Amino acid sequence: MNEMLPGMPTELFVATPTKLLNFADCKRKYRYTYLETPRPPKGPPWAHNTVGAVVHEVLADFYGRWPAPRRTPDEVVGKMRSSWRQEGFRDEQQSASWRERSTDMVLGYLRDSDPYYEPLAVERTVAFTTERASLRGRVDRIDERADQLVIVDYKTGRRPLTSTDARSSLAMALYVLGARRVLHRACTRVELHHLPTNTIAAADHDDQSLAHHQRRAESIADDAAAAETRWHEGLTLAEADEVFPPEPSPLCGWCDFARICPQGRRVAPPRDPWAGLDDSDIAEAG
Ligand code: SF4
Repeated sequence: MNEMLPGMPTELFVATPTKLLNFADCKRKYRYTYLETPRPPKGPPWAHNTVGAVVHEVLADFYGRWPAPRRTPDEVVGKMRSSWRQEGFRDEQQSASWRERSTDMVLGYLRDSDPYYEPLAVERTVAFTTERASLRGRVDRIDERADQLVIVDYKTGRRPLTSTDARSSLAMALYVLGARRVLHRACTRVELHHLPTNTIAAADHDDQSLAHHQRRAESIADDAAAAETRWHEGLTLAEADEVFPPEPSPLCGWCDFARICPQGRRVAPPRDPWAGLDDSDIAEAG
């Protein structure tokens, strides 16, 4: 029975920015990722995700776990080597070449940093609730500058980023709201630290921009909650495809479920697991 009595509090829909964006991108992908049990088989791991995961791990250790005297280039190189994994690469040679390249990327990023600098938080979960949703996420790093908190997100993708990317990021805006709520501090600034170019794309939010992102998040959360309610009431396969339809786009080639989704495959064939790496420098050097 799902009937509500008047005045009875409704259950909050719990979500991360990733979950909301998955629903906004493609309902079928959302159903495969969060609802189907057992979960349909995913494609192989992506090499660019391996690069991103290892870089994030090393930076989390550097700022969050290592005491300042340990924050040396040798320690970074050692940690990159011990954390590295082969997942998604074409072969050992490509993996080794990307391990070196990623190590250089992290060393370049840290070159000018003060080893004694202590961020306010590393990999910190922040959260806030609206009338109908509980929104949460984990922030790579929270800096403290001039009595303000700064939300820092590390990026390792091939595309350089702009302040528009920082300002339009739903996740970053929700992190601002979550950090304000959890840490009780002023926070407006968001920064995307793009390691491949060693550049920072930054933006300063105001009440209006944050309200815009919050409204968008709540609207997606409402739609996702309604669709999930239908799912839990029980749907035939045809009904499930109606409530959670495939939404093919050129991005389907990067979808973990492209191999089992005929509509997606028709629009964009599944990419090779290493296709997200920018191998141009290596190809030029070779
Ligand atoms: S391949 Fe495309 S349409 Fe199919 S589930 Fe993935 S994102 Fe959706």
